[in-house]
Amino acid sequence: MATTTLPTPPKVGMVSLGCPKALVDSERILTKLRADGYQMSPDYAGADVVLVNTCGFLDSAKEESLEAIGEAIAENGRVIVTGCMGKEAEAIRARFPAVLAVTGPQQYEAVVGAVHDAAPPVPSPFLDLVPEGGIKLTPRHYSYVKISEGCNHRCAFCIIPSLRGDLASRRPDAILREAEKLVAAGTKELLVISQDTSAYGVDLRHGEWAWKGAPVRAHMTDLAREMGKLGAWVRLHYVYPYPHVEQVVPLMAEGLVLPYLDIPFQHASPKVLRAMKRPANDAKVLERLRGWRAIAPDIAIRSSFVVGFPGETEEDFQYLLDWLDEAQLDRVGAFRFEPVEGAAANALPDPVPEEVKEERYQRLMARCAAISTAKLAAKVGRTIDVIVDEADGDGGASGRSKADAPEIDGAVHLRDAPDARPGDILSVLVEDADEHDLFGVPVAG
Ligand code: SF4
Repeated sequence: MATTTLPTPPKVGMVSLGCPKALVDSERILTKLRADGYQMSPDYAGADVVLVNTCGFLDSAKEESLEAIGEAIAENGRVIVTGCMGKEAEAIRARFPAVLAVTGPQQYEAVVGAVHDAAPPVPSPFLDLVPEGGIKLTPRHYSYVKISEGCNHRCAFCIIPSLRGDLASRRPDAILREAEKLVAAGTKELLVISQDTSAYGVDLRHGEWAWKGAPVRAHMTDLAREMGKLGAWVRLHYVYPYPHVEQVVPLMAEGLVLPYLDIPFQHASPKVLRAMKRPANDAKVLERLRGWRAIAPDIAIRSSFVVGFPGETEEDFQYLLDWLDEAQLDRVGAFRFEPVEGAAANALPDPVPEEVKEERYQRLMARCAAISTAKLAAKVGRTIDVIVDEADGDGGASGRSKADAPEIDGAVHLRDAPDARPGDILSVLVEDADEHDLFGVPVAG
């Protein structure tokens, strides 16, 4: 009888220090590694690589973490450090230059990526039995795909860079592999998230990796194109209007990527944008919007704005309202400025009084509601694609058009849709519209 020798899966050792949160992190990392085909090693000797999940809360905990790293290096030699002390990567590397990789707390994907690099997983047909999508917190038919962590900008109101560090992009092949698995597991919509999607791959110098026999660059355009070929809707969030965004707009016109861009403009007044230290704040943005709409006329632009940033005058605010009239954005969220502990903006002079913030907020929302109402009214009578989110089993259902991201945008309410199931994509005749939502009925596709 012919026998098949299966390749031996690599083994990972784990030393987990610190609080219950760190333990949960360790479990999550191990769950992912198990799903990727790794085995666990109970001792240093049998491990191909050792993970040390550290705690850095108190000096005594840091010392214990450093001792654990030292012991793992002495006993095994191939060590990846993660957890709270990962924030002090330089100190760790200075003391233990042999450490293979250092990642911070909650950087599950970075840890798993480092393990893949240190001890590549072996492909196994049996792995296909592992649920492809893993454990998900979103409904099965849509999934968030995080393409990078951290951010290279230093917006005055934001503390993300000090919490998460500079931009750290995932490899494009790893992202695409995850996206492919999600689609195989039933995902109909991939939502690309990061802090700055347009900057994806800058830290990897936009290098190339192999994907399905061809090179794919660590670049938003390549990633969007390849994701678009997987057969699910692809929605791009947190895109800054850099010139190269123009390259993804044709992908929208081709139908590979949804005609949707979530661009957190935050303001329009050049003076306020300078004070906010916002990226891509040049005067050409309106021109760019016009150019994108010429290529993909249905493109929906969603954005968020902050009113009452320190130093914002009535003139600045009026500039923003006029700009919104020109920009004709499809979806807008707004926030009244609030200081965040540790943010540079807290030290800026000329705070805006609370009642002025409130009044500006109300004016901005009213202006955007009027724009949204007119834009949605223009869709009445058209037939559009709708992805179903919920169905009551009694003919009623609700979903979203290509212009609506889950949780943050509007909905399409359906009547006479007894067969609708979450994840279905239906052709829907739009019968009515209000400020935020559409109302319609499925028609033969
Ligand atoms: S708000 Fe600015 S600094 Fe904060 S994550 Fe976004 S781009 Fe980066």
